[in-house]
Amino acid sequence: MSSDSRLMKDYHEANALREAWAAAGNNPCDHPDFTAEVLFASRTGDEFCTTCGFNRRK
Ligand SMILES: [Zn+2]
Repeated sequence: MSSDSRLMKDYHEANALREAWAAAGNNPCDHPDFTAEVLFASRTGDEFCTTCGFNRRK
């Protein structure tokens, strides 16, 4: 069974965005676009900014 990593792709993507954004200086972000965060193929109810990875409760 190796599907977990694929199902968690969006979750890890948000984490990767946050780390990359912090590494780039953690600049202010207008959060122009949010996408639903998915964990284990289910929506977590949160959304994350596709630019910086900022997480917000929907
Ligand atoms: Zn943002």
